[in-house]
Amino acid sequence: MRLRNVKNKEEIMNQCSFLIKDASIYKGKWHTLFQNNNPIYIEIGMGKGKFIRENAKRFPNINYIGIEKFDSIIAKAIQKVDNPLPNLYFIRLDAKEIDTIFDHEIENIYLNFSDPWPKKRHHLRRLSSSSFLEKYDKIFSKEKRIEMRTDNQELFEYSLLSFSEKGYTLKELSLNLHKENPPLITTEYEDRFTSKDMPIYYVMCQDACQSSKGRKGK
Ligand code: SAM
Repeated sequence: MRLRNVKNKEEIMNQCSFLIKDASIYKGKWHTLFQNNNPIYIEIGMGKGKFIRENAKRFPNINYIGIEKFDSIIAKAIQKVDNPLPNLYFIRLDAKEIDTIFDHEIENIYLNFSDPWPKKRHHLRRLSSSSFLEKYDKIFSKEKRIEMRTDNQELFEYSLLSFSEKGYTLKELSLNLHKENPPLITTEYEDRFTSKDMPIYYVMCQDACQSSKGRKGK
């Protein structure tokens, strides 16, 4: 995503009631923030947040957390929320740190149009690389489920391999999502690519959590 500086980003972030500033205090107890036991879905690299915002509006019985690395981008995402929703929170975080804020309490991870990091020496920075999947193992609850959309064929192929090598089963797969099964809710990047008639690759993969690692008390 092209990074345009938002001049008053600190002010926007400080005043935002649904941006969690010290996310680590909720580790293992995010349900206390939402005040319910509904499933928690996260989007890593939400960008300006259209996808997660619209999901939260449409599905009030799912709790959503949008994660984004850059202040200026998260400030834009905050500005686009007209009314705070009880089932939507944002966190400014590099996903490298994801296991410092969640502990076996996430049911679904969305990876939408993740940065492709084309150079081989940067592949471990990909959000679907083995190093990230190992971190996600620590945050999933009963079952691991990842949904990925991308326009990038090379990243898609890499990710399918990476998911399979870590034991995930590829449950749903499309090489042209918008032709085969157009989604109700799209992302900003997706809108840009589909307006140029580019195919969108999609996979939903799942794996059971090891019982010893499963969500405590459940
Ligand atoms: N998901 C949005 C969409 O589809 O419109 C944005 C896609 S954009 C290409 C990728 C986003 O992921 C950027 O906003 C970037 O800052 C964010 N991102 C990349 N690496 C990240 C990381 N390690 N942790 C959190 N966010 C990250």
